[in-house]
Amino acid sequence: MANLVNEVPSIMLMGPGPSCVAPETYKAMSMPTIGHMDPYFIKIMDSIKSGLRQLMETDNNVTVPISGTGSAGMETAFVNSIVKGDKVLVLVNGVFGKRMVDVAQRLGADVTEIEFPWGTPVDVDNVKLEIEKQDFKIVAMVHAETSTGVRNPAAEIGELIKGDTLYILDCVTSLGGIPVKADEWGVDILYSGSQKCLSCPPGVAPVTLSEKAMAKVSTRQAKVPNWYLDINLLTSYWGGNSRVYHHTAPINMMYALYQAITLVLEEEVENVFARHQAMHEKLVAGLEELGLEMHVAKPFRLPMLNNVKIPDGLDEAALRSRLLNEFKIEIGAGLGPLAGKVLRFGLMGHTARPENVDRLLSALKVCLA
Ligand SMILES: *Cc1c(COP(=O)(O)O)cnc(C)c1O
Repeated sequence: MANLVNEVPSIMLMGPGPSCVAPETYKAMSMPTIGHMDPYFIKIMDSIKSGLRQLMETDNNVTVPISGTGSAGMETAFVNSIVKGDKVLVLVNGVFGKRMVDVAQRLGADVTEIEFPWGTPVDVDNVKLEIEKQDFKIVAMVHAETSTGVRNPAAEIGELIKGDTLYILDCVTSLGGIPVKADEWGVDILYSGSQKCLSCPPGVAPVTLSEKAMAKVSTRQAKVPNWYLDINLLTSYWGGNSRVYHHTAPINMMYALYQAITLVLEEEVENVFARHQAMHEKLVAGLEELGLEMHVAKPFRLPMLNNVKIPDGLDEAALRSRLLNEFKIEIGAGLGPLAGKVLRFGLMGHTARPENVDRLLSALKVCLA
C-alpha cells in the first residue's frame, strides 16, 4: 500500500494560510516528545509566554497559547468574557467579523453588528456614534481581515473604549507581519493563530488577557460555559509555580511555536515588518505590470494578504488549479460575497521572500498569456 504522507507534494503556500514553514520549525517539531509536566517542557512553556509578550507588546501576565487553531483563540476570547445578555458590539467588514458575531450570539450575547463595505476599513466616526449611544460590555474587531486584505484602525478604536468595556482584537493574520501593540492600544483580549505570519503549521492560538479582562473572567458568577477554553483553568496549567494538569499540551506544536517566535525575534520584529512590506510592494508592482488591479485602496492594504480583482473573462478556478498542479503554488479564492470576484495572494511569514514572489509572478505570466 502506498504511504500517502511519504508522497505529500511540496507546495508553495501563497494563500490566506497556512503559510510556508521554515526548515528550522520543521526540525523543531521532529524533536522527541517529552511529558507535558516535564520540567524541561515547563521551561519551554515559560519561554513561549515571554516571547509572545514581546510579539504582542504586552506585559499581561496571562499570555498563553491555546491548544487549537485561530478559531479556538476566537472562542477563548468570547466564551470567557461574555456573560449571557451582555451587550456586544462587533465591527464587521469581512468573513472573520461575521464569525465573531456568530460566536458571540451562540453565547447568548445581545449583539449589535455594524457592517462596513467589504474591502474598506471600519469607519471610526461611525463606531464613535454607536458607542456614545449604547453602553457596550465588549467591542470586538478584526485587525487584519484576511477575507478582504484590509487593515482596520486598531489603535483608533482602542481610544474610544472606556470604563469597564472590554476590547477584543483578532490578530490572527496581523501578528508577526505588522505591528501589534496590545497595551498601547488598550486591547483587553487579543488572539492569534500559528499558521499565518508566524509560519507554523496550524494548531496553536496565542492569546493574551489584560488585568481588566481577567478581573471580569475571574469574578463572573456563572462558570465559563466551555471547560476546555476556560482561562481560569488554563492559567493554573500554564502559570504559577505548581502546574495543575488541565489537558495535554500538543508538545511538538509548542516546539514549533517556540522556534517560530525565536526566528522572528532573531530577525528582529522591525526587520520582519519591513520584509513583509517590501514583498507586498514587489508583488503589487508585478501584478500591476501583468494588468491586474488591487481590490483595496492603497492606504488600507495589508502587506501579508493581497486581494486582486479578477479580470473579465478569466476562469479563476482554472487559474488556481493550474497554479497548484503545474506550478505547485497555492493561492486563495474569494470568500463570501467576494467569491468569484477576487483572488487572494498571501505573503505571510516565511512565504514573504523575494524568490517566492518572483516564482509566483512568472507562473502568473505564463497562465495569463
Ligand atoms: C485564519 C483566521 C481565523 C481562523 O483561524 P483558523 O486557524 O482557521 O481557525 C480567524 N481570524 C482571522 C482574521 C483569520 O485570518
